[in-house]
Amino acid sequence: MESSRKFDVVIAGAGPAGLATALYLVKRRPSLAGRIVAIEKSAHPRFKVCAGGLIPKTMLALDELGITLDVPAVEVTRGEAATPVGGVDLSRNGDVLATVIRRDQFDAMLARAARDAGVEIVERSRVLDVAQYADGVRVGTEPGIFDAQILVGADGSGSRVRRAVFGARKETIGRALMTDIAVDPERTPEFIEQRYRFDFRCVSHGINGYSWSFPCLIGGAPHLNVGIYDQRPREFTENGGEQSRMVAELAAAFPELPLDGLRRHATRWRSFPIRWFDARDSYARGRVILAGDAAGVDPLMGEGISCAFEHGKLAANAIGQFLDGDNAALADYDRALHDGAVGKKLSRLAFAARHFYSPHHKLFFRIASVSRRAQEIGVDWYNGARHLDEMPTRHLIARWARAVLLGDSLR
Ligand SMILES: Cc1cc2nc3c(=O)[nH]c(=O)nc-3n(C[C@H](O)[C@H](O)[C@H](O)COP(=O)(O)OP(=O)(O)OC[C@H]3O[C@@H](n4cnc5c(N)ncnc54)[C@H](O)[C@@H]3O)c2cc1C
Repeated sequence: MESSRKFDVVIAGAGPAGLATALYLVKRRPSLAGRIVAIEKSAHPRFKVCAGGLIPKTMLALDELGITLDVPAVEVTRGEAATPVGGVDLSRNGDVLATVIRRDQFDAMLARAARDAGVEIVERSRVLDVAQYADGVRVGTEPGIFDAQILVGADGSGSRVRRAVFGARKETIGRALMTDIAVDPERTPEFIEQRYRFDFRCVSHGINGYSWSFPCLIGGAPHLNVGIYDQRPREFTENGGEQSRMVAELAAAFPELPLDGLRRHATRWRSFPIRWFDARDSYARGRVILAGDAAGVDPLMGEGISCAFEHGKLAANAIGQFLDGDNAALADYDRALHDGAVGKKLSRLAFAARHFYSPHHKLFFRIASVSRRAQEIGVDWYNGARHLDEMPTRHLIARWARAVLLGDSLR
């Protein structure tokens, strides 16, 4: 039999989900140092198609892991959203709404922290196949075979682990398309006012999503990262009709930017699928679990970095319990992803996506615009500020009702 390397835990993919799982695992159980390996098909720092917006929830996770964000970042303290029925101010009295990083630097920072904590990362190596046995998992990779007690599939929206163990399902794949534009920070509102902008008016033209404009730094130079998300894209081909349609909507959202000129420059556009949460999916089978995009993230906005950390934390708890002899721990992970705080949040976002991206979207945007206080609660809940997103449903509804009826503040 071919020789293999043996670990307690093999993680497919060293993006935020895989690295968060590894970091929470060694934090919870330092004795696992040297017994966890992450297999990564590229090598850090590697480019990742992503706008790099970290919501406050993600910053709380970094704090919890004792990681200082030491990469260039732009803090956003104001926000606005254009909707088919008017504008919404997303600002929260100067609170940070997002911290915008570049994923090559951010993910490399997480990889450094994981290595420092004793996690091995095998780079330029693809996970190819998975076989489960009664007492372990065998993972076939380009450099050879790895045997482990548990495999975490954190290999992104096109997850090989998901396909091998859980089967393929394409209908829960969204897509986002983006480009970066160099700007003069003194003449760009996103930099002058530390502001991000969203535009949902494309919903009226058949896009189930929104356009965004985020300030960011690339090699120290101010840029805008602009892009568009569609939860249910039509058949997507680079250079094809769907890409042109999305770019046209993005150009209409931000007419002051030179996006029209970029329309024909296909190489300036980067697009990538985002798998979104569907309550019908399962996330644990035998000794294999899924995390991050491989499992499914926010259907409404396509935000996935905070989910990656939440999944990583829950996965680490479940793996710790499993290694302690609790055979039901991985099934509990599946339950937590459905019914725990993250599952409930993603289910509500799926509910919101079904309504805000429906033929009756104007009605729902109108309802959402009725109360400024309720909007503030919505923004804080979405951002996970002060752990509001973990609050039991009845408390949240009570706060919402008080905000709408009495104008109560959250603070
Ligand atoms: C255009 C765009 C903009 C976005 N903007 C934001 C944003 O502003 N904020 C936000 O929170 N989210 C955003 N997202 C979503 C976010 O990028 C993802 O949700 C997030 O990257 C998920 O992390 P992950 O670790 O699950 O997957 P990934 O980041 O995709 O990491 C998976 C890793 O697995 C590796 N891999 C894949 N296949 C294999 C294999 N077979 N073997 C070994 N390794 C493998 C990959 O190289 C990668 O490093 C955006 C997405 C897109 C497309």
